[in-house]
Amino acid sequence: MWIRILGSAAGGGFPQWNCACPQCRAARTGARPCVPRSQSSIAVSANRQEWFLLNASPDVQRQVESFPDLHNDDGSIGRLQSVLLTDSELDHTAGLLLMREGRELQVHATKSMYQTLNTGTGLLRILGAYCPVTWKAVVPGVDVDLGEGLTYRAFNVPTTKAARFEGADNYGRVVGYRITDTATDRSIVYLPSVQQLTPQILEEFAGCSALLIDGTCWSDDEMPALGLAGKTSRDMGHVPISGPRGSLALISPLPIKRKIYVHINNTNPILLDDSPQRLQLERQAVEVATDGLEIEI
Ligand SMILES: [Zn+2]
Ligand SMILES: [Zn+2]
Repeated sequence: MWIRILGSAAGGGFPQWNCACPQCRAARTGARPCVPRSQSSIAVSANRQEWFLLNASPDVQRQVESFPDLHNDDGSIGRLQSVLLTDSELDHTAGLLLMREGRELQVHATKSMYQTLNTGTGLLRILGAYCPVTWKAVVPGVDVDLGEGLTYRAFNVPTTKAARFEGADNYGRVVGYRITDTATDRSIVYLPSVQQLTPQILEEFAGCSALLIDGTCWSDDEMPALGLAGKTSRDMGHVPISGPRGSLALISPLPIKRKIYVHINNTNPILLDDSPQRLQLERQAVEVATDGLEIEI
């Protein structure tokens, strides 16, 4: 099974259009070593023919162009017909609107996400006016045959993040996915948004070959400390990397071959290749995703 990181940044990308934090400035001026990143999304495949998208970012057009496997140069109808959603945030779903030229789209989402995408953002209603959309209900804990040699199982990710749109169930607002190659029985876990690494969530990582996990902020007060927002990382639904209850302390000891931070916010110092925070991750054998990184398990 192959996993291609199409976008490795959190919402806004890196650099973000309206931001002048030290990382964004470094990305623009080249003053420190770092590479720009587009918004979070991955593609997975067991055969390099059919690929499945996990989240559809607003950068989906250039992400597809950057990856020849997704081009339909052989005249096929479409390499990308299914999108699995981890939540209904705009940076994970706005790309669906940019896929409206498709002949048909299958959107895997929980009931909660479906409610938000229909009556909250209205994104699925808009998309449905342009191209046929089939909603595939994601039920946490249930194994689903995705076809093309892959199965998935979603797991619920509890969150207290304030909902922007009322009316959707809290259960299933955010999920992670475990995707398994049926031929090899190897699996990856994709978890770009997680507020707290509870014992139940840590159990979902057991036996996986690669963990792609929320690396939004280094510290909980990262945004307030830069004067950019009043909300902490946890307020925004993202466990920070550092600290005693941060993700690094919890995932670093796990016997997983590849542990990779994805969904990295532009304020996060790990984006600078020479930062002490980045070097600390290297010492603890945890990787930082870049756009275009591909792994085979
Ligand atoms: Zn996001
Ligand atoms: Zn910034």
